[in-house]
Amino acid sequence: MRTNSYHTIIVGGGIAGLTAAAYLTKAGKSVLLIEKNEVCGGLVNTFWHNGFGFDAGVRALEDAGIIAPMLSQLGITLEMVPSPVSIGLQGDVVNIDTVHDIAHYRDMLIKHYPQNAHEIDALMKVIRAIMKDMEVLYGIENPLFKDLKKDLGYIFKKLLPWLPKFILTIGRINRMNRPVEEFLDTLLSNSALRDIIAQHFFKKTPTFFALSYMSLFLDYHYPKGGVGKLPEAITQKILAWGGHIRTQTTIREVWAHSQTLIDTHGASYTYENLIWAADLKTLYRITHTDHLPASTVQKIEKQKEAVMRSRGSDSIFSLFLEVDLPVEYFGAIAHGHFFYTPSPQGLGQTYTRELETLLLAWESTPQEELWAWLERYIELNTFEIAIPALKDPILAPQGQTGLVVSLLAEYELFVKVEQSNLQTLFKERLESKIIEVLTRSIFPKLKAHILHQFSFSPLGIAQRVASSEGAVTGWSFEYPSPVVNKIQFSDRSVLTPIPRVFQAGQWAYSPAGVPMSILTGKLASDRVLKHA
Ligand SMILES: Cc1cc2nc3c(=O)[nH]c(=O)nc-3n(C[C@H](O)[C@H](O)[C@H](O)COP(=O)(O)OP(=O)(O)OC[C@H]3O[C@@H](n4cnc5c(N)ncnc54)[C@H](O)[C@@H]3O)c2cc1C
Repeated sequence: MRTNSYHTIIVGGGIAGLTAAAYLTKAGKSVLLIEKNEVCGGLVNTFWHNGFGFDAGVRALEDAGIIAPMLSQLGITLEMVPSPVSIGLQGDVVNIDTVHDIAHYRDMLIKHYPQNAHEIDALMKVIRAIMKDMEVLYGIENPLFKDLKKDLGYIFKKLLPWLPKFILTIGRINRMNRPVEEFLDTLLSNSALRDIIAQHFFKKTPTFFALSYMSLFLDYHYPKGGVGKLPEAITQKILAWGGHIRTQTTIREVWAHSQTLIDTHGASYTYENLIWAADLKTLYRITHTDHLPASTVQKIEKQKEAVMRSRGSDSIFSLFLEVDLPVEYFGAIAHGHFFYTPSPQGLGQTYTRELETLLLAWESTPQEELWAWLERYIELNTFEIAIPALKDPILAPQGQTGLVVSLLAEYELFVKVEQSNLQTLFKERLESKIIEVLTRSIFPKLKAHILHQFSFSPLGIAQRVASSEGAVTGWSFEYPSPVVNKIQFSDRSVLTPIPRVFQAGQWAYSPAGVPMSILTGKLASDRVLKHA
């Protein structure tokens, strides 16, 4: 075999690419994993700053019947601790430790919206039904990650009794596919109540997926040492099985006919199979189709059009705080994964129509209006607050605590801000408003004890992992998805019209996230092995 020629090349060393590489090297194939950054992991990573360990991407891992069996198949032992969730509204906090805590969530909502008690009960009934469906969906280890030939006990005692229940559940999931805002509209007459629930999710998230979060909250786990321990462990396995990993290497051209890749330094690599586990718009933008049959080119052009027409999901703004307060201070208020809404008023049109108007009339809008909008956006929003040291004390210096406060953010807003050269001012105002709101509402000692702060905007995400629109979970729900979005067809999600090219990761299936990225990584490696 020529140098730089591999059975399979995987582009993108996020969790999807790593999964595919691990299964293929385990099967003895010659594999090259190419990653643009200096370390693998993509949006699953932990970094250290001033003695604080922070998770820059996903804050904890949902097992989803996928991660544990995957680790077991790959022979990886990773010490995990539960990552319990709290939900807060104004001065109230509910810890979600068991399925029964949904009753406390109900009570909290009724306390704030007493006129809507009946409607809240109707919503809880729906959430409980979805939780039952989730028990089925994630109730057994995903069969894709089991060695079925060797595990007859699993087939007869678990898989076969589970299948009919699974099929019924799939039917219900597909029926609850409408956007959560629309569904809540039919159930809740109070728009503030509807908003404070809907604003936890990406715009137009399918109802089942959104309301299943109560179950997902009970499924969150955290690797000791940070979520970055997961990609670290998979990387070690790939290397131990003889796989090659090239970091700090970005692919800038794909020549489909000659099955060749070219990186930004001009080096070329040839593949028998390519698994593209990175941004899909990039794949179609950089793929040359010369010398391919006309019918193939036509199919590629059609899919390229669908991909280019679509948009990435909402992005995220994250504020990292190094605080001179013991972790017990925060632990007495909430768990280490905390969804907090300071105001019961709800975002209303702030993040929808008002933002659209602001972006459309950007040049003619006086700056004061931008700052007034920003104030409302922070005052009325919902924050995801992660406190790594509450899960593993080594993630902060003794007597101190690191916090990651994030909120959903529109990529285009940050583009406009940068084009107007307002980024420094915008960032300062955004950061200080978040700190002010949290200090006033839930962590009264916070502001006075901040040692250091910095933030990461959607533009930073787009730059770091080369993700269109700074998306963190693949395609937006606001547009028709150009990829498979039904679980029963997930097997096909990894196929592309480009010969010998498969896709995996957050862009390959919608809705995505860590478990689906892992699943598509595995499906892509299975396809490659089937063709081999
Ligand atoms: C703040 C935050 C919170 C989140 N919360 C959750 C959650 O609660 N639950 C959940 O399931 N998910 C969550 N996610 C999403 C989840 O982290 C991602 O969907 C998942 O990690 C995506 O993995 P991936 O491998 O598909 O893609 P990525 O992690 O984006 O990996 C793609 C890799 O490809 C590399 N790359 C790109 N282009 C090239 C190129 N041309 N050449 C070489 N390399 C390239 C990138 O550098 C990157 O490492 C969250 C994400 C963030 C940021």
